[in-house]
Amino acid sequence: MSKLTEPNKNCSKCRRLYNFRNKNKSNNPDWFNAPVPSFGDFSSSLLIVGLAPGLQGANKTGRPFTGDYAGDLLYKTINKFGLSNGEYQGNIDDNLSLEDCTITNAVRCVPPKNKPVSEEINNCNSFLQNTINKHKNLKVIIALGLIAHKSIISALNLKQKLYKFKHGNKHYFDNFVMIDSYHCSRYNTNTGRLNEKMFEKVFLEAKKEI
Ligand code: URA
Repeated sequence: MSKLTEPNKNCSKCRRLYNFRNKNKSNNPDWFNAPVPSFGDFSSSLLIVGLAPGLQGANKTGRPFTGDYAGDLLYKTINKFGLSNGEYQGNIDDNLSLEDCTITNAVRCVPPKNKPVSEEINNCNSFLQNTINKHKNLKVIIALGLIAHKSIISALNLKQKLYKFKHGNKHYFDNFVMIDSYHCSRYNTNTGRLNEKMFEKVFLEAKKEI
């Protein structure tokens, strides 16, 4: 079993995502256009798992959530809870660093229309599994949305039906707890499914567990 925590730069496990990446490369050769690696380090006690890079955000900049609409709320909240140093400016030259926190995605390549298919989610799961396993001090995982939640359950080799996704739910495992949150996407914040207060509550709960 591979112990890799990141796909290789030219990963072609998912034909559709590989082709989409190549199309984006020819349209925008100066963008990152590769699997977006996790941000943070393995000593972190908090791991935040998102869905997948956005086309003109993380796929362009090369850092999870960076330049994506969802990143504005995520990085603002992280900063508020003392989990980052420096100022988030939506690009990787902003000198932002994370404090005891890692941000990753269930799917590392940008999917068309922000929607990875099941096969792609499964193909990428070993990277998430290895990322979780490498976090030896892990105390909390925040799952941003249903796909992140399900990917984490798969990575832990647990039964989906025993762990239901619900905003604010806490799932206790042997060494850490997973907290579910609605994804901080533009859609969820615009429709009012998620607001800043609700999102902050998730981080407050995470901090209590660390
Ligand atoms: N950008 C990411 O990197 N992940 C998401 O889930 C959304 C936007």
